[in-house]
Amino acid sequence: MSLPPLVEPAAELTVEEVRRYSRHLIIPDVGMDGQKRLKNAKVLCVGAGGLGSPALMYMAAAGVGTLGIIEFDTVDESNLQRQIIHGQSDIGRSKAQSARDSVKEINPLVEVILHEERLDNDNVMEIFSGYDLIVDGTDNFATRYLVNDAAVLLGKPYVWGSIYRFDGQASVFWAEHGPCYRCLYPEAPPPGMVPSCAEGGVLGVLCASIGSIQVNEAIKLLAGIGEPLVGRLMIYDALEMQYRSVKVRKDPNCALCGENPTVTGLIDYESFCGVVSEEASAAAVGSTITSKQLKEWIDSGEPIDIIDVREVNEYEIVSIPGARLIPKNEFLMGNALQDLPQDKRIVLHCKTGVRSAEVLAVLKSAGFADAVHLGGGVIGWVNQIEPEKPVY
Ligand SMILES: [Zn+2]
Repeated sequence: MSLPPLVEPAAELTVEEVRRYSRHLIIPDVGMDGQKRLKNAKVLCVGAGGLGSPALMYMAAAGVGTLGIIEFDTVDESNLQRQIIHGQSDIGRSKAQSARDSVKEINPLVEVILHEERLDNDNVMEIFSGYDLIVDGTDNFATRYLVNDAAVLLGKPYVWGSIYRFDGQASVFWAEHGPCYRCLYPEAPPPGMVPSCAEGGVLGVLCASIGSIQVNEAIKLLAGIGEPLVGRLMIYDALEMQYRSVKVRKDPNCALCGENPTVTGLIDYESFCGVVSEEASAAAVGSTITSKQLKEWIDSGEPIDIIDVREVNEYEIVSIPGARLIPKNEFLMGNALQDLPQDKRIVLHCKTGVRSAEVLAVLKSAGFADAVHLGGGVIGWVNQIEPEKPVY
């Protein structure tokens, strides 16, 4: 499937530009027309980290006329192992400004627009609408879904990449011509399942392998050449040195781009991705029990009060024997505290352990020092204790 070019060509190239881009101009598929399209293109790079570094540097060198950089972080020494757009003297500086300086050093003809803020629901639509294409160099799931949803809602294509240790993936998501990220990954992995680069590590040069695929695809989309990576997922294994490409179909039941979408606007990505607050993580330390432990307490008649903090409809689908329902909000509003027993240990649970950790933080600060919550929630319980029960 070839697609028409994303942008119209600029009126002309200057003599200086012809000199600079001569090795592009003599490639028949790029040529003067393709280079003029790159000159006219506005590309936003989300993040100036591992993937954003090579992506920005090669897009700058290639002559993409306008590069937007959204990044709120500062350069840390531990970034330099892979984030090659920054250098030793940039430590402590704004990553956005450091990236801009490198881009300008590579190619002063590129216009750089800085967005020195965190991408969120309040700014994403306005920022994205100023660009033809987005290159996603995000390292967390909440932002990844935010990027996808905003791109789909605005009808814009984006080039996605992800990296972990020796493994990388890349694809182009464009709901009008193929699947979106949610077609591939309808649900975020449970919190704690997939470690970040900071926790799990990443081979520095892997960023270049995947970032360069992203730039390659960006150039093809902008100039309208080749076979775009729409509907295909590139999977790279640096240890085995293998690239594989697998087909990804548009999911007719996709919550966002399917036939009957249930997501029609931006949602709360932190809670969708189960991002646990600092208070909740702190409360859960030493106060998280396993399904097996809970089963033992139930079987031995331990004096416990099992409280399910999900919503009524979730409780009706599946519940843990003996659990009573008090939705999370009742705790956050302060209504539920006075009814809690003082002579029993309170065991909280929810679907996967995120909401119950939040409520646990509320209980701990209200003086329920021995309260605990169930790690993995009812999903973990069903998997380990009652596999015949339904999960949702
Ligand atoms: Zn989709």
